[in-house]
Amino acid sequence: MIQVTDLKKNYGNLQVLKGITTQVAEREVVCVIGPSGSGKSTFLRCLNQLEEMSGGRIVIDGHDLSDPKVDINKVREEVGMVFQRFNLFPHKTVLENVTLAPIKVKKMPVEEAREQGMALLKKVGLEDKADVYPERLSGGQMQRVAIARALAMNPKVMLFDEPTSALDPELVGEVLAVMKNLASEGMTMIVVTHEMGFAREVSDRVIFMDQGVIMEEGTPAEILTDPKNERLRSFLRKTS
Ligand code: ADP
Ligand code: MG
Repeated sequence: MIQVTDLKKNYGNLQVLKGITTQVAEREVVCVIGPSGSGKSTFLRCLNQLEEMSGGRIVIDGHDLSDPKVDINKVREEVGMVFQRFNLFPHKTVLENVTLAPIKVKKMPVEEAREQGMALLKKVGLEDKADVYPERLSGGQMQRVAIARALAMNPKVMLFDEPTSALDPELVGEVLAVMKNLASEGMTMIVVTHEMGFAREVSDRVIFMDQGVIMEEGTPAEILTDPKNERLRSFLRKTS
């Protein structure tokens, strides 16, 4: 589903991604871990074209992002993203937040978008909140709306950038449960997270990024239980 080859990203003289090569198969769940500043967010932002890459190649579901003929908006529709901060539209209801993009971007008929939106809110356990405004929600509920909103575009891949890092600890579980459910339905997912329990339980593969490169990658057991790299060991000691 995703092929990344020697991906590089610079900000001026600062080389943030120094040649990332990896693949993500359809239905695979990959967790990305690593210290702050290692380039995890930049990697995700390159994947959905929020950042232009400086070098290398990204192919998503057959679309080569560096091909000048590629329809970037089409590719973006296929790649859903959920951020640490939920970025819901404050003056729109929960249901309107979920239906806006399908109506505006996909030109989906309003009734259909509302039906789909209600089904998605049900999926994330928030059908009873359809008509309230985001300010009335807890952080965990907002993040579940953000997930429903991303799913409303019917993406082939979902990217999550530390989706639970801004939440109070007691709200983390409800968001991880929604993500786990999504994974079990076969969604292809890349999840940047500090939740090692989630990585261990849900992911097929874990990538350890450090200083703009993939230092180590493997099964959760290989990476989290039996790490080879000293920097990874030290990172895991600090997070546990
Ligand atoms: P992580 O998500 O792993 O914490 P980031 O991808 O956010 O890391 O950042 C990697 C590096 O790139 C950091 O040194 C950060 O300061 C730098 N960086 C990120 N975004 C920008 C930007 N827009 N302009 C300049 N430097 C940036
Ligand atoms: Mg980040």
